[in-house]
Amino acid sequence: MASNSMEDLVALCKRRGFIFQSDEIYGGQKGLYSFGPMGVELKNNLKQAWWKAMVWQRDDVEGLDASLLTSPNVLKYSGHEDTFTDPLSDCKDCKSRWREDQLTDGICPNCGSKNLTEARPFNLMFKTSIGPVDDGSSYAYLRPETAQQIFTNFKNVLDSTNRAVPFGVAQMGKSFRNEITPGKFIFRVREFEQMELEFFCKPDTDEEWFKYWVQSRIDWWLEQGIKKENLEVFEAPQDDLSHYSKATTDLLYKFPHGFEELEGIANRQDFDLGSHTKNQSEFNIKAKVMENKDSTTKLAVQDLDTKEWYIPFCIEPSAGVERGVFALLNEAYNEEEVEGKTRVVLSLKPHLSPIKAAVIPLKRNNEDLVNHAKDLKNKLQMLGMGRVILENSGNIGKSYRRHDEVGTPICITVDFETLENQTVTVRDRDTMEQKRLGPEELINSLLYTSPSPRDKSQYPIPA
Ligand code: ATP
Repeated sequence: MASNSMEDLVALCKRRGFIFQSDEIYGGQKGLYSFGPMGVELKNNLKQAWWKAMVWQRDDVEGLDASLLTSPNVLKYSGHEDTFTDPLSDCKDCKSRWREDQLTDGICPNCGSKNLTEARPFNLMFKTSIGPVDDGSSYAYLRPETAQQIFTNFKNVLDSTNRAVPFGVAQMGKSFRNEITPGKFIFRVREFEQMELEFFCKPDTDEEWFKYWVQSRIDWWLEQGIKKENLEVFEAPQDDLSHYSKATTDLLYKFPHGFEELEGIANRQDFDLGSHTKNQSEFNIKAKVMENKDSTTKLAVQDLDTKEWYIPFCIEPSAGVERGVFALLNEAYNEEEVEGKTRVVLSLKPHLSPIKAAVIPLKRNNEDLVNHAKDLKNKLQMLGMGRVILENSGNIGKSYRRHDEVGTPICITVDFETLENQTVTVRDRDTMEQKRLGPEELINSLLYTSPSPRDKSQYPIPA
């Protein structure tokens, strides 16, 4: 049974160390969460799976890790200073504040009053001062998306790698948005991570690449364990598009609170490279762009056949790490009856599991068993599959339960027979079956915890 209960998931996340409310001991901060011992592993594994698929397994993408503090000029020319806003209304009676789209018939959802202010724009970016004097003259923004630094580093990447269009630049990392109504657990938070690719292509190939990336991203989420029936593809209507977008397709996931955006794929055209380019009116840019007097460079490339300069178009698949973690936990959570008791099991794909294997000595006080288990743990750890843990609690039943709940694919018990012939008992998380395996078979059973290489023939690359 898939969990549709937000409470079950939140409770599991706290109980087993996946996700905690930030600053809980001081009453908690709305919209801020910390990832615990299991959460950080799951999150890193998800990010690593994305990086492998988007960078390592491709021949046309490079990586980047740019600064979070961003110069106001970058976010002025990107349009964020002017347009990255939510219209807000205040209730004059109960003093609550609402996004315009949360109000029905102009009624305050908190107290029912109709005494609301006109909606006013509220910028979602966090601003902070830079340098020793805090007089407002020198400031930066905490980036609201990772994308802009990819555009401003476009030439650096191009010049340092000899790439030619089409190619992409991928980046994962923190973004910050002063959301008015954070909530629904980690769905909408004020500090989160994004996994973004900016894929640059020739202007007349953008629609084909857009289709390619939508399909590729759907397939990737399915590979991570999202069920097809829980994913919906939503094409944003033309009059709902952001200022830079020619087309946007959102991948919606069926979260416990309903279908909402997990990832957005946008055709950003030549808007961003164009708007960060000096004197861009020399180029025939279709998007509405401010004339740039502050930039020092041209973010353009030369067509090797015609020798003409042009600004590449850009397709952007942009996914949220927190929303990904939330969706995958929701998919993996299962409760089942086993011998009259409820078993909670997290059937994560093994490559995402926080712990790949737990090694359990049959008796916690037997030195030979414990030493053998430690040795085995170290050997398995060296395979590079991810975290392997020594579980010396002395209670095998309890260890199984804990590892079912955090999604450990196998538990390995070291017993007296192991000391004689090296075989161990391996218990499978999903089937609960136990098998006696020798060292080689054990290693083979662990190898499947790494994400499989993607079959490139599935993704015919546009010419
Ligand atoms: P929404 O409409 O839900 O606010 P958005 O369209 O503003 O999202 P984008 O700007 O397209 O989101 O950002 C790309 C991705 O970043 C989203 O698909 C989502 O996964 C993630 N994301 C955006 N805002 C948040 C947030 N406040 N908390 C967690 N993840 C977020």
